[in-house]
Amino acid sequence: MYDFQYHRPTSLDEASRMLSGAEEASFIAGGQTLLQTLRQRLAQPSDVVDLGGIAELRGISREGDNVVIGAMSRHNEVAGSADVAGAIPALATLAGGIGDAQVRNMGTIGGSIANNDPAADYPAGLLGLGATVVTNNREIPADDFFVDMFETALEPGEIIRSVRFPVPQRAGYVKFDQPASRYALVGVMVSQGAGGVRVAVTGAGPSVFRVSEMEDALGRDFSADAIAGIRIPSDGLNADIHGSPEYRAHLVTVIAQRAVNAALQAH
Ligand SMILES: Cc1cc2nc3c(=O)[nH]c(=O)nc-3n(C[C@H](O)[C@H](O)[C@H](O)COP(=O)(O)OP(=O)(O)OC[C@H]3O[C@@H](n4cnc5c(N)ncnc54)[C@H](O)[C@@H]3O)c2cc1C
Repeated sequence: MYDFQYHRPTSLDEASRMLSGAEEASFIAGGQTLLQTLRQRLAQPSDVVDLGGIAELRGISREGDNVVIGAMSRHNEVAGSADVAGAIPALATLAGGIGDAQVRNMGTIGGSIANNDPAADYPAGLLGLGATVVTNNREIPADDFFVDMFETALEPGEIIRSVRFPVPQRAGYVKFDQPASRYALVGVMVSQGAGGVRVAVTGAGPSVFRVSEMEDALGRDFSADAIAGIRIPSDGLNADIHGSPEYRAHLVTVIAQRAVNAALQAH
């Protein structure tokens, strides 16, 4: 690990001021990804700004037809929230299935989506539920937020404050996980709500993506049978020791059907 200046601001304004004076700054939320990156000397920030002391980034609440989750909310807090379980049980399932107990006690929703790991669960949650990312200076729809592998629409120094999830009529999240890390080989969030049907897939490609053919079919008939015959092309899907692109393409259809059934059972 290289030396750096450590800061712990107590407000977003203070955090922004600390950034503006830094040569190259990094935020730290739960440190689940960033600490490994620093230990392996893959990054050399001059300043590390700890978001843990900023009260504005905490809290989970039901606000009308939305659930708003502060960026520093730990995965366990989301999994255990009565507001989340009552309004969007699929999101509580998603958060409760991330990693292991230690990761869920430290990892945050803000850190997860800022990192945009291709196998992370929350990107499917945000895209599949049609959420909006609220930062310190704008609002970004999930459709525009996840750009590519480990790349988002965030500008340098931009801080995620919260994520706003519209409450769907029904939703289901299922993943086929890699048993050691529990990252998704393929994870699918399916929802039906005011904005129609959404199907978002993580783990299969370089970044989370929607499957419009499945969305159209489910819009006509919200049942697992309606998408049983839909195969996505394997071109461009991820290949690693855990699975080939063809295997992942096959899993998308299987897991999407299970997500539809989960949505039907939960609501
Ligand atoms: C062993 C292990 C297993 C895991 N398994 C899973 C899994 O099954 N599914 C899954 O989805 N994830 C998994 N993860 C990832 C984990 O859930 C964390 O969400 C992820 O590592 C990010 O960690 P963090 O929230 O602590 O953020 P940090 O590591 O502190 O930060 C990550 C990045 O986000 C930036 N950042 C953090 N907060 C903000 C903010 N508010 N605004 C702007 N930028 C910000 C930081 O600058 C940094 O670049 C696993 C991690 C580990 C170590």
